[in-house]
Amino acid sequence: MVTGFNFKKKFGQNFINDKNLLQAIVNDSGINEKSQVLEIGAGAGTLTEQLALTAQKVISVEIDNDLKPYLQLLCEKHNNLSIVFGDFIKMTKEEIESNFTQKFDVVANLPYYITTPIIFKFFEEGFNINSLTIMVQKEVAERLVACSGTKDYGAISVILQSQADLKITRIVPRNMFYPQPNVDSAVINIKINFDKFNIPNKQFFAKVVKSTFNYRRKTLLNSLQLGLNIDKEKAEDIIKSMGLPIDIRGEKLSIQQFIDLSNKLIECV
Ligand code: SAH
Repeated sequence: MVTGFNFKKKFGQNFINDKNLLQAIVNDSGINEKSQVLEIGAGAGTLTEQLALTAQKVISVEIDNDLKPYLQLLCEKHNNLSIVFGDFIKMTKEEIESNFTQKFDVVANLPYYITTPIIFKFFEEGFNINSLTIMVQKEVAERLVACSGTKDYGAISVILQSQADLKITRIVPRNMFYPQPNVDSAVINIKINFDKFNIPNKQFFAKVVKSTFNYRRKTLLNSLQLGLNIDKEKAEDIIKSMGLPIDIRGEKLSIQQFIDLSNKLIECV
């Protein structure tokens, strides 16, 4: 346990000390002595140390310079570990990837205030990674794995499920963290499979999905007109050609249907 440290809410600092939980996260990630691992948010380095004991190489990015004294000691103990101080969100793909000599795995107890931007960063920038095993707020984990037609189903569910295989590996109650947050958490394992479906233009696909869910209460037809500026008749033709009712809402579409829709739409924008 870190003593005399001022925890910062603005950085989403909720640390884990329980050895069994730390080991369980490492097990859930499936990493081994050949793996190269990226951690986001070292904190006091408890998960970092378990990772360093398991993997070939660990790079951990931490925004808070006040943690330097604790993390420097840890680096002296483990020669396969390096800490990079900085804001992960502002780092470029090249900066991050230059630390690795092979496809890497991400394992992290994420700072909750930027969970979604961090996840989107890996997918939108197409990082050279095998998997992400991340602790997130339980409700977020439920959204990531949600099926079509449920209230949790959103743009992030579709974008992730179209390019990865997802599994919630454990629920973690709030009392496992210090300081204790107001929410429970879950560990989710995301195995990247960028070729799971044939999506020729991933950026356009993400745009179609996001437009649909931005106008959740509208019909698919209306949201496509609003979000993509598509001609009404063309959008109607496409929806009909897919055998869908013209008043369908976007949230009813399966992953495959979103892909078909995007592949048809791209020909008329
Ligand atoms: N891994 C540690 C700490 C988790 S708390 C543990 O499990 O105990 C989240 C950590 O992310 C904090 O240490 C926080 O300072 C760090 N953090 C927050 N925002 C960050 C950012 N933008 N870039 C890198 N690290 C960040």
